[in-house]
Amino acid sequence: MANIGIIGAGVAGLSAAYDLLKAGHRVTVYEARPYVGGLAAGFKDEAWEWPLERFYHHIFAGDRDIIGLVNEIGIGDRLFFPSPVTSIYKDGRLYPINKPMFGPWLEKLPFGKPLTTLGDLAATALRVLAFKPIPLPARFRVGLVTAYIRYTRRWQPLEQVTAHAWLTRAVGARAYEAFWQPLLEGKFGDDYQQVNMAWFWARIVARSPRLGYFVGGFQGFVEALADAIRTRGGDIRLDSHVRGVHPEADGRIRLELRAGDQTHDRVLATCSPQMLKARTPTLPAAYTAGLDKLKSMGAVVLVLALRQPVTREHYWINIPKREGFPFLAFVEHTNYIAPQHYGGDHLVYCGDYLAPGHPYFEMEPEAMLELFIPAIQRLNPAFERSWIRKYWKFSELYAQPVPFLNHSENIPPLQTPIPNLYMANMSQVYPWDRGTNYAVEIGRRAAREMMR
Ligand SMILES: Cc1cc2nc3c(=O)[nH]c(=O)nc-3n(C[C@H](O)[C@H](O)[C@H](O)COP(=O)(O)OP(=O)(O)OC[C@H]3O[C@@H](n4cnc5c(N)ncnc54)[C@H](O)[C@@H]3O)c2cc1C
Repeated sequence: MANIGIIGAGVAGLSAAYDLLKAGHRVTVYEARPYVGGLAAGFKDEAWEWPLERFYHHIFAGDRDIIGLVNEIGIGDRLFFPSPVTSIYKDGRLYPINKPMFGPWLEKLPFGKPLTTLGDLAATALRVLAFKPIPLPARFRVGLVTAYIRYTRRWQPLEQVTAHAWLTRAVGARAYEAFWQPLLEGKFGDDYQQVNMAWFWARIVARSPRLGYFVGGFQGFVEALADAIRTRGGDIRLDSHVRGVHPEADGRIRLELRAGDQTHDRVLATCSPQMLKARTPTLPAAYTAGLDKLKSMGAVVLVLALRQPVTREHYWINIPKREGFPFLAFVEHTNYIAPQHYGGDHLVYCGDYLAPGHPYFEMEPEAMLELFIPAIQRLNPAFERSWIRKYWKFSELYAQPVPFLNHSENIPPLQTPIPNLYMANMSQVYPWDRGTNYAVEIGRRAAREMMR
């Protein structure tokens, strides 16, 4: 039985802790914040029944790793899959792209599930065909190219070309600019033309129109996982920022904490690569130079609790940068999950991925609101300040890894050059886009490797 320390009580750290405890090891999880869940954690207004994620969250129907873990800890019945509408904003209009054809009743019939999936795919195809801003032949091309990407097996050759070049060639500049450029630009800012096509492939392959959510939100899931860890004797220490990671002469790892140092046989760090570098002065320079190559974007959101909905049906609206909005995603959570779970509030996120150093990170929430109100009025001219009951700002510097050409060559292994020190984070789940499903996968993979 080994004595294992884990830095970070996000989904990766908790998933690893769960498996290590199951295998009979002693586990202590150190979390800098006063809550578990990391990027997927929620917060709760006193008027709400369910917490809400600080950053919009859902999973996909094919997210096998998280669904597997959810079933294993016995909360499979808390996961449900609505089919909300996702849309593109173009020239003052909203175009739904994923809008289900049938209601949830279909799923309850015999063969209902495959029929729903087929219906959802057909609905998306029809929506793309109805997307008037580009000519009809271009819409057909978008449909064919999407199908081609979806059924392509090997992603490796795709990482040698940028998504920008590949997609422009495949569907033509106009269709690319209308459909996919907004998504790339929204996620990667100025670097969007450098992102490789394997990342885009993974996005298309992994996505489903049905989006999964938990009774009690993602906070409900992470707390159930934390409970399963505590039940097995695991120790989760909140408000415990690891200030230093030091290898000892006997091969064990000493963690420096305000409450006193702790030494473990093995340590898994699930913080960002830069955080690990800053906390571990003995990491070799050649290795930290590799960590420096792992570029990432930050995220900033303003969450508004409103007395009325902004849009009638849209859950997710992608807004192209050239439309001149001060945010690139407008996510109306209560068009996905019913407002009655939030005391009747209508909840919206105005979000953006931004390079660290962008003024939004330092901006006061009040100033941000002033900037955003006229933009929300462009989505619904009736929107008024008096609709706002409350608002919150959240930001995170390490939110979205940026995969450049041949990115697989830059992914560090789980084992660091320091014996008994392991690292598992969002930058290593490539070609998959970061997400809670892949946090579960990498956490469990790290646990297996640590036990080997
Ligand atoms: C804007 C946004 C939207 C997203 N949308 C979705 C979505 O729709 N669906 C989805 O599945 N995923 C989504 N994700 C991604 C998902 O949240 C992450 O992939 C996942 O939560 C990562 O888990 P993790 O455990 O690897 O990292 P984290 O959640 O970052 O956990 C790391 C933990 O380590 C702690 N930590 C860091 N340094 C220290 C230290 N020195 N000492 C102690 N503790 C430390 C941190 O406080 C944190 O709790 C989104 C993320 C963002 C930012």
